[in-house]
Amino acid sequence: MKYEGIVYRPPSEAYSLIVQVTIGCAHNKCTFCSMYKDKSFRIRSLEQIYEDLYEAKARYGAIKRIFLADGDALVLKMEMLRAILLKIKELFPMCERISAYAAPKDVLRKSLEELKELKALGIGILYMGIESGSDIILKQIQKGVTSSEIIEAGRKLKDSGIKLSVTFISGIGGKDKWKEHAIESAEVISAISPDYVGLLTLMVEPKTQMYEEVNCGKFKLLNPEEVMLETRALLENIDVTNCIFRSNHASNYVAIGGTLPQDKEKMLSLIDEVLKGKYSYKDEEFRGL
Ligand code: SF4
Repeated sequence: MKYEGIVYRPPSEAYSLIVQVTIGCAHNKCTFCSMYKDKSFRIRSLEQIYEDLYEAKARYGAIKRIFLADGDALVLKMEMLRAILLKIKELFPMCERISAYAAPKDVLRKSLEELKELKALGIGILYMGIESGSDIILKQIQKGVTSSEIIEAGRKLKDSGIKLSVTFISGIGGKDKWKEHAIESAEVISAISPDYVGLLTLMVEPKTQMYEEVNCGKFKLLNPEEVMLETRALLENIDVTNCIFRSNHASNYVAIGGTLPQDKEKMLSLIDEVLKGKYSYKDEEFRGL
């Protein structure tokens, strides 16, 4: 397998075969993100991708899960995605699930019929980094998409039958906008009703615009208590029928998780206990991405 640079994948894809179909991120402008800063975006050729798949077949035999990297495999045109998925079907008939990151605008560029076709060809789950439901914050972090586009893309994916996992970032609005961030993110989650919500906590990485903004005092980071208050407000305002909520990433100060709506009160009570000082926060040195 030929991997170029650091390869990122969601935690739930830890045991999947990772195949780079693109290098880097087509957008690559988010102010907080350092993941693909050292890569210039390009699409790998079908020949290179097939080579990796043949090599994986020879080396590992049957594979059950495959993650298409890097930052947004859905940027590929349907013809190419179709060819890759058919090749996976041919080489790995036992493969149960293919997944990828998906940017909202790339989802919107595909018709509902095309998304349904991707599902029929094996795409089982897509991961969408939403970060915030607030249009002001989305603009500040240069996400390149609005909350209404995010909602439209999320609903379209749900209609296609592909499972949807979304991530938001605690603290991405800073001290100035934590309330808007919590409430408007909850509105977006309620409007989409994704299958999974992952809530990370902001970690400011060197070589990012946000790093500079923090250093010059323009962006003020939340402390752990403020992160908890923000998480509380977010959870309180989410209105969904069946969604797994997890805030147990290496970046989080406290591990929280459950199924919404039935575990909402339990999770809110845990946050209240934390705020009363009954549990301690993860030390900064043990936080990671
Ligand atoms: S957060 Fe996602 S869309 Fe934004 S630059 Fe990073 S990989 Fe690209």
